[in-house]
Amino acid sequence: KRNVVQELEKAEGVSRRSPESRILVFVRLRPMGKKEKEAGSRCCVRIVNRRDVYLTEFANDNDYLRLKRLRGRHFTFDASFPDTTSQQQVYSTTTAELVEAVLQGRNGSVFCYGATGAGKTYTMLGTLENPGVMVLAIKDLFRKIRQRSCDGNHVVHLSYLEVYNETVRDLLSPGRPLVLREDKQGIVAAGLTQYRAYSTDEVMALLQQGNRSRTTEPTRANETSSRSHAILQVVVEYRIRDDAMSVVNRVGKLSLIDLAGSERALATDQRTLRSLEGANINRSLLALSSCINALVEGKKHIPYRNSKLTQLLKDSLGGACNTVMIANISPSNLSFGETQNTLHWADRAKQIRTKIEVPMRALSHFPNNSDEQFRNLWQACDGI
Ligand code: ADP
Ligand code: MG
Repeated sequence: KRNVVQELEKAEGVSRRSPESRILVFVRLRPMGKKEKEAGSRCCVRIVNRRDVYLTEFANDNDYLRLKRLRGRHFTFDASFPDTTSQQQVYSTTTAELVEAVLQGRNGSVFCYGATGAGKTYTMLGTLENPGVMVLAIKDLFRKIRQRSCDGNHVVHLSYLEVYNETVRDLLSPGRPLVLREDKQGIVAAGLTQYRAYSTDEVMALLQQGNRSRTTEPTRANETSSRSHAILQVVVEYRIRDDAMSVVNRVGKLSLIDLAGSERALATDQRTLRSLEGANINRSLLALSSCINALVEGKKHIPYRNSKLTQLLKDSLGGACNTVMIANISPSNLSFGETQNTLHWADRAKQIRTKIEVPMRALSHFPNNSDEQFRNLWQACDGI
C-alpha cells in the first residue's frame, strides 16, 4: 500500500532530520527600561557577533583595565539577540523552521525562560505594533498554507491555556479549572477551547484578550508578576486522499510557551500563599528541566507526571519534536543576579544538547560586525 505521507514528503523535498530531540538555545537581551534608567542602572550585558554573551558590570565600557579587573562571564548560544533585534528576526531565527516542521506533521515547542520583566511576554505575544513569536508564527503558518498545493486541506486549531499554581485554566474561555485526562492521543485538558482559526487578523486580538485573563499577582519584586505559565497550542491537521480516496490525517502541533518568572520565590518576600505558588512554579520549571535532561540523555523514563506543565507538553517534548529555548534577560546591573541565573540555566540546556550530535545551525543572515573588536579586547584581557 502506498504511503501517501512519505511520498508527499519526498515531493515536498522534506529533509528528514535525525529523530533525536535537539534543543536550540537562544538568548534575547531587551532594551533598558525607563525605570531602570531612572534608577541609574548600567548595562551589564554585552552581545558580540550575535552569539557570545558577556556578563560584566561594565559591558558598555571598553575600558581595558576595568574589564580585566571585573571579569564577568562568557556564554555562547545558537544565537544571541542584542536589544536592537526585531521581533521578526527573533521569529525567523528561532521558530520559522518549527512552523515548517509542523506543516509536515511534526511537533515542536518554543519556551521563553527568564525572570519577571525580562521580556518573555514581549517575545511571545508582543504588542499590536510589534507582534511576537506567537502571532508571527500563525501569520507565517497561514502564508505557507496558502502557498501549498490545493490537493490537501489544512485545518488550524488554537488553544491558549495557563498553568497557575498547578491548576490548568482555559485562557480563551475563562472559567473553572480544567481537568487533565489521558486519552488515545495522550494527555488532554478536558473541555479546552479549540478555536478554529481561518486568518491571522482575528488571532492577535484573541491572544491579547486571553493574555489579560492570565493570573497576575502583585509582589514586592515587581508591580505585577506573572506566576503563570501560558501555553499556546497550534494544531495543524492536513487531510489528504490517497488512491483509494481514504482520508489520511497528518497532524502537527506547535506549542509556544511563555513560562512564569524564573526568579526564586524567596527573593520576593512572600507570605504563605506566595511561597506555595513559588514552590509550584519552581516545581514546574524543575520538572521541565528534568524532562529535557532525561530526553536528551535518552533515558527510558521521562518524568512528565511531576507537574501539570510537563504533562501538557508530553507530546511536544519527546520523540521527533524540535525544542527551542529563548532565554530573556535585562541589560540592567540591578538584575545582574537574575541574568546570571538565566544564562547559567540556558547554558546548561545547551550543554545537555551537545551530548548528542547536532548539526550546527547556519546563521548566515547574521553578519559579523564590529563587535569583533570587543571580542578581541576581551580575549586579550582574559589572557593577562
Ligand atoms: P516578562 O513577560 O518576562 O515578565 P515583559 O515581556 O512583560 O516581561 O517585558 C517587560 C517590559 O519590557 C514590558 O514593558 C515590555 O514591553 C518591555 N520589553 C521587553 N522586551 C522588549 C523588547 N525586546 N523591546 C522593547 N521593549 C521590551
Ligand atoms: Mg510576562
